[in-house]
Amino acid sequence: MDSDYFYMQELNIQQQKKELIAQLKKNGIKNEQVTEAISKVPREEFIPQNLKKYAYENRPLSIGYGQTISSPEIVAYMVQIANLTKESKVLEIGTGSGYQTAILSLLCNKVFSIEIISELAESAKNILKKLGYYTDKNNIEIHVGSGYLTKYKDSSFDAIIVTAAPLTIPENLKKLLKINGRLIIPVGDGLYQQELLRITKLENDKFTEERLLPVKFVPMVNS
Ligand code: SAH
Repeated sequence: MDSDYFYMQELNIQQQKKELIAQLKKNGIKNEQVTEAISKVPREEFIPQNLKKYAYENRPLSIGYGQTISSPEIVAYMVQIANLTKESKVLEIGTGSGYQTAILSLLCNKVFSIEIISELAESAKNILKKLGYYTDKNNIEIHVGSGYLTKYKDSSFDAIIVTAAPLTIPENLKKLLKINGRLIIPVGDGLYQQELLRITKLENDKFTEERLLPVKFVPMVNS
């Protein structure tokens, strides 16, 4: 019967979610607000129909247009090292599916997300609206544009999270950080290994750089 089927499916999702969260905790995601957000946001809603069954596996999945939704662990890791609070104002470059945008919206005051592929921006917005994350009163704004060209008031953001890899760190993004603001960004050539960096603004024109992890992201494209 249909209702039994959906009940079983729901049980299955809950079980898979539990296992995923246990795995994330084991792999160093200690921030409970982050694991709670990962438990709350239904990842299956951000994934094409034929891949939904893999929604709670810890791996990236295709979302069309040659792009991917990152693995839950890398999303959790980037959000954790951004050290967000409920007051934080965050810029995300590379909205993609909108999954990480939803996670961020639960953890901070305001998320501005920029996506270069207009169809993806539109579809992310629709999913976030359907799930109630994106409303007039809510804390998400999605815009079509390029992270290389993103301009806003200088020193606006507590954190910037980039989900596509440029060859070098875009200077415009460093400008947008507040003092003590953190830029989380994969940098390097896609053919080789990229590195995930955390760049912290100590004062205007003074930054520290931590090299955290070898990673593989889609390239941050120019147009
Ligand atoms: N966090 C996303 C990951 C998406 S993959 C998720 O959870 O789904 C990276 C995204 O960055 C892709 O959607 C790609 O189109 C976008 N992108 C690539 N270059 C960009 C640029 N210059 N500016 C903005 N977005 C860009």
